[in-house]
Amino acid sequence: MQASINGIGMTSQRTRERLVQRLAEHGIRDQRVLEAMRSIPRHLFVDEALASRAYEDTALPIGFGQTISQPYIVARMTEALMSVSPNKVLEIGTGCGYQSAILASLVKEVYSIERIAGLHERARRNLQALKLHNLRLRHGDGYQGWASQAPFDAILVAAAPPAIPPALLEQLADGGLLVIPVGGNSNAQQLLSVRRQGNEFIQQLLEMVSFVPMLGGSQR
Ligand code: SAH
Repeated sequence: MQASINGIGMTSQRTRERLVQRLAEHGIRDQRVLEAMRSIPRHLFVDEALASRAYEDTALPIGFGQTISQPYIVARMTEALMSVSPNKVLEIGTGCGYQSAILASLVKEVYSIERIAGLHERARRNLQALKLHNLRLRHGDGYQGWASQAPFDAILVAAAPPAIPPALLEQLADGGLLVIPVGGNSNAQQLLSVRRQGNEFIQQLLEMVSFVPMLGGSQR
């Protein structure tokens, strides 16, 4: 009934539940991750005109030529990252802040860097509206990582560099995990997980993906 009065309200509850079911069918097993995907309202992170499509399992435009990642990929990366039960996480590519919100609902401290000022500001507003306070956002270049806060138990990168940035490996704690798409501007990027053991880095291919490229420098 409420659906007819308040379109997005009810509809989004139901469609969000359907999305979570779909993620489970596609192999997401970690209940913590499924619960986070259930509780964070993705429609608040996209333009109103796109809100009705927020619970489709697709990437959507967020302006500045960038996209909010596909829910399945957000869930897959988060699940990989949760395998090390991290407390302190660095995210590169805040975008609209959706992935950051998922992380903040699961781990103690989240640090996130975005190179485009307009998106950085939008993410700040979105995350404040959700009253998530265990994150710190920075406008800057993710290629440098966030040295003053290192080491991180896990690092998640939401844009694809041509090769793994060395600073991110350096800022990974012993036993930590980096989840990153590699392949630059190609449409055959590899989503990798890289586990640090002392000074050894053990790499695993998770799947083939398509992310926006990770670009150098920050942008006003
Ligand atoms: N996780 C985001 C996805 C954003 S798309 C979300 O849920 O919305 C990837 C983002 O990475 C874009 O906003 C892009 O501007 C940003 N990005 C690309 N290169 C970067 C860099 N070197 N440092 C920081 N952010 C970068």
